[in-house]
Amino acid sequence: MQKYEVIIIGAGASGLMCALQTTKPTLLLEAGDRVGKKILATGNGKCNLTNNQVSAQCYNTPLVTRYLARFNQEQTKQYFNDLGLFIYVDEAGRCYPLSNSANSVLDLLLRALSLKSNVQVVTNALPQNITQAADGFVVSTAQQSYACRKLVLATGGNSGTQYLNQLQVKYQNFVPSLMGLKTTKNKGLAGVRVSNVRVKFADFDEVGEVLFKDGGISGIVIFNLSAYLARRKIQTGKIALDLLAGVSTSQLQTMVQHSLQHNPRYSVPEILTGFLHKSLARNLAERLGLAQKLAGELNATHMDKLVELIKNYTVSFTGYADNNQVYTGGVDLADLDENLQHKTVCGLYLTGELVNVDGVCGGYNLQWAWTSGKIVGENL
Ligand SMILES: Cc1cc2nc3c(=O)[nH]c(=O)nc-3n(C[C@H](O)[C@H](O)[C@H](O)COP(=O)(O)OP(=O)(O)OC[C@H]3O[C@@H](n4cnc5c(N)ncnc54)[C@H](O)[C@@H]3O)c2cc1C
Repeated sequence: MQKYEVIIIGAGASGLMCALQTTKPTLLLEAGDRVGKKILATGNGKCNLTNNQVSAQCYNTPLVTRYLARFNQEQTKQYFNDLGLFIYVDEAGRCYPLSNSANSVLDLLLRALSLKSNVQVVTNALPQNITQAADGFVVSTAQQSYACRKLVLATGGNSGTQYLNQLQVKYQNFVPSLMGLKTTKNKGLAGVRVSNVRVKFADFDEVGEVLFKDGGISGIVIFNLSAYLARRKIQTGKIALDLLAGVSTSQLQTMVQHSLQHNPRYSVPEILTGFLHKSLARNLAERLGLAQKLAGELNATHMDKLVELIKNYTVSFTGYADNNQVYTGGVDLADLDENLQHKTVCGLYLTGELVNVDGVCGGYNLQWAWTSGKIVGENL
């Protein structure tokens, strides 16, 4: 049986960062046919690697603060900059490689890894069994068994559950998060994008762009709402959209009145097209049963209803879309020490999504992967 000081299972964002820090003889086992493949899919292929506004509020737990304080977004940018990566920041504080290509991030990480003579990488390696031994762990794939003193689980959310079970480590169930939401049919709205929409559900309240689909809604603000719903295990409900968040109700009343007075022969959808996307204008008019009416035929109640519907357009959420970016759930930070070592399973470390830390959309999840990988790698 081959012996290593450290075995890292999973060569994604956090596993790679961890491997780059360790100075011990290390084996990095990756189930896929290549290392870091998922990084290439992040940020729509551009890799939103961190955010200038990282703070504990962006995550599901305030306990993340003590770790972020040890490797924050500025240190992350500096780290990548030292690897040779140049970064730009967009208006929302999201940081991307100047090349706009996630390949740059992965290639420079792999370049740095190639210089680490203490790290041996094995791809297509899927551990099936992990057991605790007197002086560490035994990790067995179908082909081979390896022994190590310290074990890092970096498999990403969900994929590591079998190992957590084998080691009898307690964790919160993994629930998909950061994804579009399924809704009842949005008649005629498939493909419509509306910016500056206020999205409300209980105490969730955020403004952003909403993309309508035939039976769903998407967009960054909806991804963030999905995180809110997933953390609370909410499966259905009514989401309220203010379709003109930048216009107050009284301003909107004045606008509607003005348009109706000046254009009495316009149909209701034509009136609404003056301030909403054409398909949305038709959908709203149909919802109110006013699609066939002319502006001149509307009374004060009709006008109030129009304004009310624009400011409070409800969508029935019926479930989650399948394309989740992260999982909420995992091993609680309270069960890990300051170096992310498990408090009762000595020598076991956890990084990335396997820890019960998940952030909203915008580079926060990769930041956690870098932070957790860096801390563990430096302290093995
Ligand atoms: C489409 C998409 C876009 C995203 N975009 C962004 C973004 O722009 N910004 C952002 O901050 N976050 C983004 N995320 C989230 C981010 O990618 C993750 O939070 C982050 O990669 C988690 O890092 P990790 O190391 O925990 O796991 P991962 O990066 O998922 O890496 C886990 C690795 O372990 C391997 N593995 C899994 N199981 C096993 C096993 N049993 N044995 C061996 N190896 C195994 C996997 O193949 C993988 O290589 C995105 C996610 C997706 C899916």
